[in-house]
Amino acid sequence: DFESRFNLPHLRDVLDIEPRLTTFSLNGRGPQIVDGADVPEDRKNGYVNEDDRALLKAIKYCSPNSAGAECIDPDCSWVEQWVHRAGPRKQIYFEPGEVKAGIVTCGGLCPGLNDVIRQIVITLELYGVKKIAGFQYGYRGFFDQDLPEIALSRHMVQNINLAGGSLLGVSRGGANIGDIVDSIQARELDMLFVLGGNGTHAGANAIHNECRRRKMKVSVVGVPKTIDNDILLMDKTFGFDTAVEEAQRAINSAYIEAHSAYHGIGLVKLMGRSSGFIAMQASLASGQIDVCLIPEVPFKFSGPYGVLRHLEHLIQTKGSAVICVAEGAGQDLLEKSNLTDASGNVILGDIGVHIQQQIKRHFKEIGVPADVKYIDPTYMIRACRANASDAILCTVLGQNAVHGAFAGYSGITVGICNSHYVYLPIPEVISSPRVVDPNSRMWHRCLTSTGQPDFC
Ligand code: ATP
Ligand code: MG
Repeated sequence: DFESRFNLPHLRDVLDIEPRLTTFSLNGRGPQIVDGADVPEDRKNGYVNEDDRALLKAIKYCSPNSAGAECIDPDCSWVEQWVHRAGPRKQIYFEPGEVKAGIVTCGGLCPGLNDVIRQIVITLELYGVKKIAGFQYGYRGFFDQDLPEIALSRHMVQNINLAGGSLLGVSRGGANIGDIVDSIQARELDMLFVLGGNGTHAGANAIHNECRRRKMKVSVVGVPKTIDNDILLMDKTFGFDTAVEEAQRAINSAYIEAHSAYHGIGLVKLMGRSSGFIAMQASLASGQIDVCLIPEVPFKFSGPYGVLRHLEHLIQTKGSAVICVAEGAGQDLLEKSNLTDASGNVILGDIGVHIQQQIKRHFKEIGVPADVKYIDPTYMIRACRANASDAILCTVLGQNAVHGAFAGYSGITVGICNSHYVYLPIPEVISSPRVVDPNSRMWHRCLTSTGQPDFC
C-alpha cells in the first residue's frame, strides 16, 4: 500500500483550474510550457511524478519498548509510511510569465535564510517569473506602509548567501490574517513563500485557509526555519548543522577556560526552547561535555543525585567540568514570569544564569573554590552564514518550494524525511514540536559520551 500518509492540499480542491504541460530541460533553461503532448524524448525525464512517494520510516521494532520505538500503530511493529516526493511536476497550474511571487522571512534569525531566499528567486526566474517581491521584516511587510516591497532578481540575490541574517529582515508579532490576505489580494500575488518556524507556519496555514475561503488562486508554501531542529517528521531543518558546528566552538572555549583554571567549571547555554537537539548533538560532537541538560529530561540540582553533587565529584576526580544546557531545560526549577514576546511565545527563565548562581553558591557553601565561566553564544550562532551541508539543504528546499507552488499545492511545507525531499501539509508538522526521545539510542549515546548519571 503506497498511499501517502497525508493528503496534500491543492488549489484544484476548491478552484476549477486546468494544468499546463511543461517540458523540463536539464540544461539550465528550466521548465517550458508546451502545447499538446508533443514532448521531445530528451525532455521527458526531469520530473517527479505526482504519484511518487518517499518512505518516511523503515524500521522493524521487535517490541514496543525497544529503544527509540515510536508506537504509531501498536498492533504493527513495522512502521512503514509514505509521503509525497518533492520536485518539479510535468503539469503546472500557473502561467510563469504572469506570476507575481512574494517571499517573507519571519521569527528569529537562522543560518541559511539568505540561501533559501536566493534559491527561490533563482528557481522562479528559471520558470520564467518576472515579478518577485520581497516583503520586509516578516508579516509586518504586508501592512506597514513604511515598508515597501523589494523587487528581487537573480542579480540582486547573487551573493546574499555569503552573509548570515536575512536580506528581507525578520520580525515577531503583529500578524492579522485578514489584513495580510487583503494585502495579498491588493498586490495580486499568485504565490507566497513563507520562511519561518512553527508560529510563521501557523500564520502561513491561516493565510492559505483564508485564501481558499475567498477562492483566491494563491499558492502558500512554507520552508521550515528552526535552528532547534524541532519540526515533526523531518530529519533536520536548515541552520541546525551550522548551529551544532558553531556550538562546538563555544564548548571548546568553555573547555579550555575550565581546564586552564583551578577547579574550573565551564557552562554553555545553547538554543532549544522545547527540544534539546542542539545541546545533544553539540555535546556528542565536541566530546568535551561532562553534563548535558535538555528540556526533555528532568533533573535536580541538589541532593545526593543532583547536578551539584556530580560536579563536586568531577572537580575531585578530573579537576574541571563542562556543562551544556539547552535554554528550555529545567524551567520547572525557575520562577515563572508569565511574560510573552510580541508573537505570544512564553519568555523563558534564564537557566544558564540560574545554574551559574547555583554552582557558585554551592561551592562557596562547601568551602571548595570553583571558577565558573558562563558562555551564551546564541546570537553569534544565529547570525552565522550557513555551512556547506546547510547551504545544500537550503538550495534544495528553496527549489522544491517553487516546484510545489507551480504544481498547484498550497498550505504545504518542504522538508527532508528519511533522506528524501518531500512535501507535507503544514498542520501535520506544527501540531507539536519534535523533541528528543529520552528512550532513543541517540540520547543514550550522548549519556555514554558524557558519562553523566541520572539526575533525578
Ligand atoms: P522562531 O522559531 O524563530 O520562534 P516562529 O515562526 O515560531 O520562529 P514567531 O515569532 O512565533 O516565530 O512567529 C512569527 C510570526 O508568525 C509572527 O508575526 C506571529 O505573529 C505569527 N504567528 C505566530 N503564531 C501564529 C498563529 N498561531 N497564527 C497566525 N500567526 C501566527
Ligand atoms: Mg517559534
